[in-house]
Amino acid sequence: MDCIFCKIVAGEIPSKKVYEDEQVLAFFDINPASPVHILVIPKKHIESAVALTEEDNALIAHIFKVIGIIAKEQKLNNGFRLVSNVGADGGQTVKHLHFHILGGKQFGESFG
Ligand code: 5GP
Ligand code: ZN
Repeated sequence: MDCIFCKIVAGEIPSKKVYEDEQVLAFFDINPASPVHILVIPKKHIESAVALTEEDNALIAHIFKVIGIIAKEQKLNNGFRLVSNVGADGGQTVKHLHFHILGGKQFGESFG
């Protein structure tokens, strides 16, 4: 499949990993938008948040648990922004579900 993140999961494209288990992979974004910018993805190819099914309930719960673990490890104790872009209008460029952990700076109220 021609998916960059599936290739990262398969090890065909290198990445700077911060967390990995059987279901989830997290790695630093190649083009960081904040001092700490990590992408958390399911290893399974799911196109976006709107492609999730009941079958993925446990997976999504697990991803959110992992996000908490990573935030603690990265010392984002003062908070961070969590973003998942969906589709063209959402600005999604990689069509494999991912959560951006954006931290190390203080965000304002705007979403741009
Ligand atoms: P989206 O715009 O789809 O929400 O986010 C995709 C993100 O993936 C972007 O922030 C982009 O910088 C990142 N990205 C794209 N290709 C690669 C890659 O090959 N390696 C890494 N580490 N990040 C990537
Ligand atoms: Zn994929």
